[in-house]
Amino acid sequence: MSVCYALPPVRGKLTHGAPLAPLVWFKSGGAAEWLFEPADVDDLSNFLFALDPAVPVMGLGLGSNMIVRDGGVPGVVVRLGKVFASVEPVDSTTLRCGGGASGILVSSKARDAGIGGVEFLRSIPGTVGGFVRMNGGAYGRETKDVLVDCEVVLRTGERRTLSAADLGYTYRHSELPSGAIVISATFRGHVDAPAAIQIEMDRIAAAREESQPLRSKTGGSTFKNPEGHKAWALIDAAGCRGLRRGDAQVSEKHCNFLLNLGNAASADIEALGEEVRAKVMAQSGVALEWEIQRVGVDK
Ligand SMILES: Cc1cc2nc3c(=O)[nH]c(=O)nc-3n(C[C@H](O)[C@H](O)[C@H](O)COP(=O)(O)OP(=O)(O)OC[C@H]3O[C@@H](n4cnc5c(N)ncnc54)[C@H](O)[C@@H]3O)c2cc1C
Repeated sequence: MSVCYALPPVRGKLTHGAPLAPLVWFKSGGAAEWLFEPADVDDLSNFLFALDPAVPVMGLGLGSNMIVRDGGVPGVVVRLGKVFASVEPVDSTTLRCGGGASGILVSSKARDAGIGGVEFLRSIPGTVGGFVRMNGGAYGRETKDVLVDCEVVLRTGERRTLSAADLGYTYRHSELPSGAIVISATFRGHVDAPAAIQIEMDRIAAAREESQPLRSKTGGSTFKNPEGHKAWALIDAAGCRGLRRGDAQVSEKHCNFLLNLGNAASADIEALGEEVRAKVMAQSGVALEWEIQRVGVDK
């Protein structure tokens, strides 16, 4: 994995062999061959334009839906810093949000501006780039319901605006072009009173606390809900609640969550997920599909 090819000059931070485990929720896995934290959009765009097209590029948010395999991620991983995390109201119902802004920041700024409808982002511990890519959703709403458009830097370095229709959204899936980095998004809600928005945010936060292992090393929902089923119920029925492999465990609290209890390797976590899939298939005949993005190579 450690081919040391020449990379274009940058104004931001470019690190060779950067460990990714500290940057993802599971706290496991290998290093990025290169980790790039661009100084601004031009820095990102110029870098991608000049980069050998054969080098793979991947965006990283808060790593809240990701297993980084133990052999690390070849090519360049792009992480957006503070300069990409601004959230500004555009008018009485829309907000322009940087690709690196968190869900809590977006929903809090929307509340302050009296814009309702994006409270659900309060409960998803990711960034705008991750929400756009994953069609993140909760409590009956998804990113596609509020997204007007987003600005991306394509793998070629070209900047482009994509509408929600361009992204071909389905459940927890988008057709975001491979290697594209989401640098901002515009969300539309509706006019509402900040106090009412706060009540909804509090309700969502309390519901989360009750149902999910929020302070654990995890990757959120492991599998997509199959048509007509709840993944957690299939996993429970297959007897997998609490199932362990080394330090990897199926959560007792919410069995569509996998946990790293301490020092699990990503290989343990992924193999546990595959074991769950096999048991669910044997018990109910349903093929669970991974929601968690598994990236990089095995050791
Ligand atoms: C406790 C917990 C609860 C969760 N609850 C929910 C929930 O209710 N609903 C839900 O939908 N999800 C949930 N998740 C999963 C996760 O938070 C979402 O999928 C979120 O959208 C991921 O955002 P992220 O920025 O952390 O992306 P990452 O996990 O870093 O990346 C996910 C994918 O997005 C891509 N990506 C990230 N940033 C960019 C960017 N700027 N440009 C291009 N691609 C990018 C990555 O390459 C990867 O393919 C939960 C996770 C946890 C840990």
